[in-house]
Amino acid sequence: MSKLIYQKPPLQNIQQLYTSFNSPICEIDCGKKCRGSNPNDLPFCCDITQAIPALFNQEWDHLEKISDLWFPLNNPNGADHLDIPDGMVLRQCLGHTKCQRENRSLSCRQFPFFPYVSSNYEFLGLAFEWDFKDKCWLIDHADLVTVTYRQEFIECYDQMFIHYQDVFDNYQYHSELCREHYQQRGENFLVLHRNGKNYLIDPATEKKQRQP
Ligand code: SF4
Ligand code: SF4
Repeated sequence: MSKLIYQKPPLQNIQQLYTSFNSPICEIDCGKKCRGSNPNDLPFCCDITQAIPALFNQEWDHLEKISDLWFPLNNPNGADHLDIPDGMVLRQCLGHTKCQRENRSLSCRQFPFFPYVSSNYEFLGLAFEWDFKDKCWLIDHADLVTVTYRQEFIECYDQMFIHYQDVFDNYQYHSELCREHYQQRGENFLVLHRNGKNYLIDPATEKKQRQP
């Protein structure tokens, strides 16, 4: 008789999710490239004054048990203006000199990307967080993003979206905001597609133009 193999949804198996989405984003330490332009002399994505990590509730439950890396925000009032999706909490870490790579949140692992969803509900690939365009050095060096990182990112969110419609909906909405942002500026934006190629997307028509 064959056995039923039951796989827990990713958010109930955070450790497995972290293990399978753990490769460096590129082969150099991009923090050394960006911190010089941050007055706080920190990589922008690890500077709490620039980017506040949002953790899924299940991540917080897990990380709180296994590490001392994360704690509630020191100044939660400063983050009042942020629109946090249901099921997530804002947290702060010990700082980049004390980072525990294995205990980084998903938000750390995916930065500076988010899963881009087209208006016809296709998860196409990775798009950059537009608010960091003038801060994150990597945004102008997309060619350095490794194939492995791209694959792990896509597999992670494929799994998430199968199990969590609300997570998909949140990113679908975030992608809409992305298109609005670029449409207002009359600019196209880059997507690192799940097919391994890169495309500039016209935010009005969503037509794709292949990049070299
Ligand atoms: S991902 Fe961007 S902001 Fe973060 S360390 Fe690299 S270049 Fe800096
Ligand atoms: S956990 Fe590490 S990668 Fe994430 S914000 Fe803190 S220092 Fe940066």
